[in-house]
Formats: sequence, C-alpha cells, structure tokens
Amino acid sequence: MIDPFGRAISYLRISVTDRCDFRCVYCMAEDMTFLPKRDLLTLEELDRLATTFVEKGVKKLRLTGGEPLVRKNIMHLIRSLSRHLESGALEELTLTTNGSQLTTFASELAACGVKRLNVSLDTLDADKFREITRRGDLAQVMAGIHAAQAAGIHVKLNAVALKGFNDAEIPEMMRFAHGEGMDLTLIETMPMGEIDEDRTDQYLPLSEVRRSLAERFTLTDVPFKTGGPARYVEVAETGGRLGFITPMTHNFCESCNRVRITCTGTLFMCLGQEDAADLRAPLRASEGNELLSRAIDEAIGRKPKGHDFIIDRATRKPSVSRHMSVTGG
Ligand code: SAM
Ligand code: SF4
Repeated sequence: MIDPFGRAISYLRISVTDRCDFRCVYCMAEDMTFLPKRDLLTLEELDRLATTFVEKGVKKLRLTGGEPLVRKNIMHLIRSLSRHLESGALEELTLTTNGSQLTTFASELAACGVKRLNVSLDTLDADKFREITRRGDLAQVMAGIHAAQAAGIHVKLNAVALKGFNDAEIPEMMRFAHGEGMDLTLIETMPMGEIDEDRTDQYLPLSEVRRSLAERFTLTDVPFKTGGPARYVEVAETGGRLGFITPMTHNFCESCNRVRITCTGTLFMCLGQEDAADLRAPLRASEGNELLSRAIDEAIGRKPKGHDFIIDRATRKPSVSRHMSVTGG
C-alpha cells in the first residue's frame, strides 16, 4: 500500500471500542454518548479486517480506543491476532491503554507476544489524576504498569502536556519514568471533538517545554524511532529517552506511515482530516476479501498530505468533529 505521496503504509491502528472507564477532560465530555453495541464490528470482523491489512503489508498493529482493555473478550481477538506474529507476517502487536486493567491482563498479553505497551499517564499526583481522568485511580494504574513490567513487557509512558496542569511536573515525571526504565513521550493536545473545556486554556506548545527542560537538563537529539511520530532526545542526567509528539508546533506528516480504523469499520487516512472510507459494508457484503481489499486500495489512493490543526482564540470549533476516542490515539 503506497499512497499518492510515496509513503508506504505499514502501520495500522484499530480502535476496538469507543467506550472507556475514564473521561479525560481533553479527550471526552463528562456525559459522552457511546455508540450502540450493534454498530460495532464484532471481534471476528475486527480480526478479518486486521488480517487483510497484514496481508497487504501492515507490519505494526496497535489496538487502541476508547480503552481497548474494556472491550468484552478483547483477549480473544489479541490471542487470535498473535498468529500473525508467530508466522512472521506481523512484526509488532501492541496497545495504547490507560493501564487500569493491566493487573488483570498483563501476563496474558505477554503470552500473546505483546512486547511493548504505551500507557497514558498525565500526572503522578493521585488527586490530580482523578481530576484529569474525572474518575481514575492512580494506584490501580501504577499497579498495572508494574504488572506489565513484571510480565516482561516494555512500557512507555505517554503524557499530554497541559498548560497549568502538569507543566511544572514534567521533570519529576521524566525522572520517575527513566528511573523505572521507561521512555516518556509528551504529546500536544489536538483539537478533536467537542469537550467541556476551552482548548486554548489547555494547549501547551512542546517547543516551550523543551526550552524550559533544556535549562535544567542536557538534551541530545537521537535518531531513535518506534515507527510512530515521536522525535526523541536523550537526557544525560537521567540516562533515559524523552519523546515529543508535536502535531501542532511541528508538522509530522511527511513521514506518516499510518492509517486508522474505528470500531465501526471506518478507515481514516489521516487523524486530522474528515475524509474516510467505510470498510464495514464491503466487509459484510461477501465472505471473501476482494471487495474489502479494493475499498482499502481506493482509500489509500486518496490519503491526504497532512492535517490542518489550528488552536487559537479565533478558531472555536474543533478541527475535526470526532473525538480522539473514536479514532484512537
Ligand atoms: N484509552 C487509551 C489511553 O488513554 O491510552 C487509548 C486511547 S486514548 C484516545 C490514546 C491517547 O490519545 C492517550 O495517550 C490520550 O492521552 C491521547 N489523547 C486523547 N485526546 C487527545 C487530544 N485531544 N489531543 C492529544 N492527545 C489526546
Ligand atoms: Fe479514555 Fe484514553 Fe480518552 Fe482518557 S484518553 S478518556 S483513558 S480514551
């Protein structure tokens, strides 16, 4: 799968549910309406879809959401997908998770060949954690992280940088992550979906964060890549790696190798654009995968060059109307 700009598509992210046990303030509104269960692809359909993409050249598959580990019987899908790791067709099977269910699932994930996990964690303070997630329990997430590490899974922490919320805490979070052998990646907030708050109050450019960190730490750019959009530095004082995902301050689109599928089977060729292709209809139209494969090729053929995210006081509306929990992070 090669797009019109010559980029090979080798990385697929699938949102397996739009539901979540948290309501992070930058991601969801307090009273979200979730999709009726009948609109979701079944686990078997998700498997067929993922398998078709693997056959067409996807090497890295990330399950996300919503919270992927709250989808009923999710381990059934993960266990089934692990056959592509065993055959060598897939290089990596991984998840982005809020960590709340990891004490239950960590060892089974490891047994399925999951070697790395991204866990989202925006603060180390239990009260602030409850505030930002509107209901999460930090101790439960910490226990989940440790369970994953004990199972031999390499954990990377992801934190959304939020002005006035965790900016002062970033050095401490970095020391914590690096002290536990984890990379930390910082993410800029993206204007996706209506939330209850003003995004201009939350938006913190990572260029500013980097400048301020550089006053206290020695940061050296390193070419390390995980297949995603993060750019990394090494931090001499902690001996660890810090990643920056900067969709707002630095356009990361030129090296984009990704596409995303929602839990209803809609393929988004770009996180920051509305154009999409329905794969559920061709998936359900026949037992074979020919129609599906053709629909995928057509969609890749119109993958856009990049996104047009804007956050400023004049632009009140989100750049794209769907929430991040629809397409997944
Ligand atoms: N529930 C899982 C989790 O939190 O890791 C997976 C889905 S969540 C949508 C994936 C990632 O997207 C999380 O790291 C989250 O912090 C991030 N995210 C959500 N809304 C965002 C936004 N508007 N801008 C930037 N990142 C966002
Ligand atoms: Fe749930 Fe993840 Fe969104 Fe937080 S960021 S509400 S954990 S989907």
